[in-house]
Amino acid sequence: MHSFKKAICIISSFIFITLCGCNQSKGDYVDLSNTEQKIKDSQLNINLDDFDYDDKPYNIMNLTTTVDSNYFYNFSIPNTKINLQSGRVQYVCQIPGCAHDEITSPGCISYQDIISPVAVSNGIYYIDGNKVMFFSGNDQTVILTNDYYTEYEAEIYPDNKSVITALVRHNNLLYIVCPTYYFTYNTDTKEITAPATISDSLCMGFCAADGYLYFTTENLELYIYKIESGKTEKIADKVGQVRAKNGYIYYVKYENEIPILYTAKADGSGSAKLLDDCYVNYYVTDNRIYYQSYVTKDCYQYDIKNKKSTKLDLKYTFSDGKEYINSEYLNIVSTSGMGFVFIINSTEKLIFIFEDNSTEYKTIEMEEE
Ligand SMILES: [Zn+2]
Repeated sequence: MHSFKKAICIISSFIFITLCGCNQSKGDYVDLSNTEQKIKDSQLNINLDDFDYDDKPYNIMNLTTTVDSNYFYNFSIPNTKINLQSGRVQYVCQIPGCAHDEITSPGCISYQDIISPVAVSNGIYYIDGNKVMFFSGNDQTVILTNDYYTEYEAEIYPDNKSVITALVRHNNLLYIVCPTYYFTYNTDTKEITAPATISDSLCMGFCAADGYLYFTTENLELYIYKIESGKTEKIADKVGQVRAKNGYIYYVKYENEIPILYTAKADGSGSAKLLDDCYVNYYVTDNRIYYQSYVTKDCYQYDIKNKKSTKLDLKYTFSDGKEYINSEYLNIVSTSGMGFVFIINSTEKLIFIFEDNSTEYKTIEMEEE
């Protein structure tokens, strides 16, 4: 049961960070000034003319990144963004004349905790305790303040009863996910719905599809919630993370300590095993699944139609001549409609950017030695 416990431990620490707003990496300092020259040699030229903002599930691996039509954002202190045209790495803060120094630049957003960011066309929604905030690029405003809680939150989080866990976007609705309930904020009409309780234990993963919500709990159970009837049904046990895509759901189920990827129809029926070894950081595009082996830590691209996996050879030579060797679990993130997938090694501050359906990639280094 080792991996199981480990998974729970990892999940718990992420939740702790999320719920407490603690900052796990304060003190890191990235000198971005040297990075620009190198990037000029490797322009990204990612054009996103018909970019479509859409679903971003709540997944423990995706609490710090988001993408809009111009930038890839990495909200891990200091908060930085990559220009998708030039490949240039910049601080998120746009205060004129700001030195972006953690100590001497009060108000610099590059050193603020931005939890569960969700980019839309004119800014980024994020969580600050029991508030949903909006960052326009210049200003940060309060969108709503949550004061609701159930007996569960009152008992488990007595000092922070109305804490918000994550934001999930589907169509024009922002799902505000709390430990045992959710409500929605319509980003067009600004209408807020009444809270709906969906679980009697902590919600650890959440995604929305047409007519359905899916969520996992701290007991690693997977549930489907039918929005119209308000009915909840259990789909599976020992489940890590869930995603919905094109009328199907994808979820990781632990078997003999190994995470296995399953798929099922949107209504939860017809579940079938898809991949024998798939860590919870997988990402699903229209035709491919990008995933990492839990056992070997190798990355793969799975062709959904042809049922074939291709290994992704992640190669990079650092400026000191050292060759990149992957030895950890990576973040695999994107947002559909963009046609690119980002595979991130946070420790090495390296990002491999794959054009979807291709095994070609570009590499961006977020930090120079
Ligand atoms: Zn600044």
